[in-house]
Amino acid sequence: MNSIMADSVKIESRPIPAFYCCYLLRSKNRKAFYIGSTPNPARRLGQHNGSSKGGAKRTSMQGKRPWEMTCIVTGFPSRAAALQFEWAWQNTHATRHIEREVRDARLEELQKGRKNPSPVKRPRPPMSLEARLKNLHHLLGVGSFSRWPLNIRFFAQDVFAQWEKHISKMKTKLRTDVTIRVTPAELPKLAPDVQSEMRTHFIPEIIRAIPVAYEDCKVHVEKSKNILGDGQQRTCGVCRLGMRAEESLVLVCPVETCRAVSHMACMSQKFLAEEKNVDAIIPVQGTCPSCQTSLRWSDLMKELSLRMYGEEELKVMFKTKRKKKSDGTVGEDADEFPDIDELEVDMDEDLDETWTENVNDDEDK
Ligand SMILES: [Zn+2]
Ligand SMILES: [Zn+2]
Repeated sequence: MNSIMADSVKIESRPIPAFYCCYLLRSKNRKAFYIGSTPNPARRLGQHNGSSKGGAKRTSMQGKRPWEMTCIVTGFPSRAAALQFEWAWQNTHATRHIEREVRDARLEELQKGRKNPSPVKRPRPPMSLEARLKNLHHLLGVGSFSRWPLNIRFFAQDVFAQWEKHISKMKTKLRTDVTIRVTPAELPKLAPDVQSEMRTHFIPEIIRAIPVAYEDCKVHVEKSKNILGDGQQRTCGVCRLGMRAEESLVLVCPVETCRAVSHMACMSQKFLAEEKNVDAIIPVQGTCPSCQTSLRWSDLMKELSLRMYGEEELKVMFKTKRKKKSDGTVGEDADEFPDIDELEVDMDEDLDETWTENVNDDEDK
């Protein structure tokens, strides 16, 4: 097995997740923040606000409802990667992802102004919004994370404004390949005395609309299956050698009109050579040998992993929609395959544990 494949795909023997993000919540009720990660931000926001099952059982969480999702970080190559990032974001003062001096300086800064600075042994100082954004900015440039194709999307305009203010003051510029998007979420305009579920259970449309399934990969997988299944002799677009029918680590260009296929190892070498980064093992992006379109390595990997390990996910993706009969029972063509939501359930199970660990540290007093 090729080592690149082993690193980025094979370990979990599951396809690369369709979507995984880290998020920053803000209490609309008290001055408190919470950092977490999820494959489904809309559902998770609902859980935090108590509108769906799996919601917070902890009263400390409940007292701060409603929670607002201020921003998400996306583009993690695996669930494990997102969890690492989440942990580092929560514990920037302790993480080994950050050089010692930066860590100590940050710790000092955090303890400054407190009457009784906690002893250094296990400091968990509360963090302001500014500190959290600073940490986020810092993490994006740290070696361990700097090669992941990460992006940030802001839903709270004022949080974005604070982010920009911070960026303008920073000496180190943010890496240019991080896309920053601002898509303000509409919040319910309710009279202050409305004590309704509307207030706490509200999930903005813009968050509901985040594609969390494999839809954006569907056309690419379909195309690959067609091209690889046509029985014709194929030639690697990079090394020009013929490809054997049983070869499995084959990449297919996602561009509709392009029929280029290549060995994964060849394409990886080509991308790395274009990047001119001698230390890198896994590429970030490069051009298709045939149509010259700039392609992201993570997109190629996601499609390949889905094709190789995503049998269940593909069944879900290509099945016809569940049809409910008028009597409420499910139609014949349904239920043979699990729903995407069911597949994700196991990924969400650690929710309450995460809360137990972090929630006390997240309050600003
Ligand atoms: Zn080749
Ligand atoms: Zn192409």
